[in-house]
Amino acid sequence: MINLEELDICRRRGHSRVLGEGWSQCESCGWWRRELRTIEEREDEPQESEMDTSRPEIPGTVAPNPAELLICRRRGHGHTIRSRWSRCESCGYWLREHRSIEEREGEPPEEEMSLETQSARILDNVNKRMIELLRERAPT
Ligand SMILES: [Zn+2]
Ligand SMILES: [Zn+2]
Repeated sequence: MINLEELDICRRRGHSRVLGEGWSQCESCGWWRRELRTIEEREDEPQESEMDTSRPEIPGTVAPNPAELLICRRRGHGHTIRSRWSRCESCGYWLREHRSIEEREGEPPEEEMSLETQSARILDNVNKRMIELLRERAPT
């Protein structure tokens, strides 16, 4: 149920569902897409024009600490990371987030699908199986 005309509209106006982690299928155009988020880290202070000014600088922030950075990578940094540079008060590194959207026409491997998509498919299979069972039991 791939629809190129709808895909064109989706690219201009956005796809039908909110993106979560992993692949999900758009109800309008039938293409699969996922959002990729990567976090960029730097030790030295970025240009002021590239800083996230919505967050006030916290006085007494720690010097960049590689050991703390490793912990942050595992557990997440101390604040929400935006597309502009902001400094994590736990590890002392400057961080920013890149977002990009990947699209594909064919179905992705099931383990790469979003949890929502996976559970919808499981429900779908259960429903199909139920219908099969009811048919088997029905007198012909
Ligand atoms: Zn779409
Ligand atoms: Zn951190």
